Amino acid sequence: MKENLSVSPWNSSPAPVVFSDFDGTISLVDVADAILEQFADPSWRKVEEEWVRGSIGSEECLRRQMALVKTTAKQLNALIDAVPLDPDFSTFYRFVQMQRLPFYIVSDSFDYVIRRALKRAGADGELRNGKHLFSSALRLVRGELHLSFPHSKINCPHGCATCKAAIIQRVRGERCPVVFVGDGLSDRFAVEEADMIFAKEELLDYCHEKGLDCVPFQTFRDVQAGVAKLLGLEMSACDVALNVAAQGV
Ligand SMILES: [Mg+2]
Ligand SMILES: [Zn+2]
Repeated sequence: MKENLSVSPWNSSPAPVVFSDFDGTISLVDVADAILEQFADPSWRKVEEEWVRGSIGSEECLRRQMALVKTTAKQLNALIDAVPLDPDFSTFYRFVQMQRLPFYIVSDSFDYVIRRALKRAGADGELRNGKHLFSSALRLVRGELHLSFPHSKINCPHGCATCKAAIIQRVRGERCPVVFVGDGLSDRFAVEEADMIFAKEELLDYCHEKGLDCVPFQTFRDVQAGVAKLLGLEMSACDVALNVAAQGV
């Protein structure tokens, strides 16, 4: 599968499908961790250790951790609204739309958090109405968090809250190349399904450890440059087109 994609651009069909993690990737901090740090009993860290060791899956991890959270809608919204987002994500999202590349968010984290943050980033449509967003679900009822995991059970041998690997297999179809963008250990099964990996932080270390080819990135501008190259596009031409689109010309 990984046949020198960095040298031969994907300027022929089929076009790639792009998948991205949310926490720590589109948001610059892990929002689930921030919720736990601010509102949970400190014993959440013990549960986290079990997950990092691989002795529990992310669904059990989140169920046990979020049961330790006490908060209000006002506090939760304030936390989400203060989370810094990748400054280049909005432009990247316009880029994939202009190039008609299917783009999906796959996340263990929560629909409520992601939708609220995306609204701030100006990303609307399929991402926010849920068609292209696969995540865990969170509802806040009288200060209690109610979780559900609508994408946990399909072909998942890992105990994932959201099985990114199974979703990629299902969405990609027969021959579409897959681009994956991520930052952490919750992406460790997803990258096995990708033809091109953009990685930072812990995911970058993980890819190096496992000998997986990946492109290091800092912001979505780097991802955009990498995808543009794959498509055989000049980044400067993309910038001009995006600026025109942004001005509504
Ligand atoms: Mg992440
Ligand atoms: Zn899984």
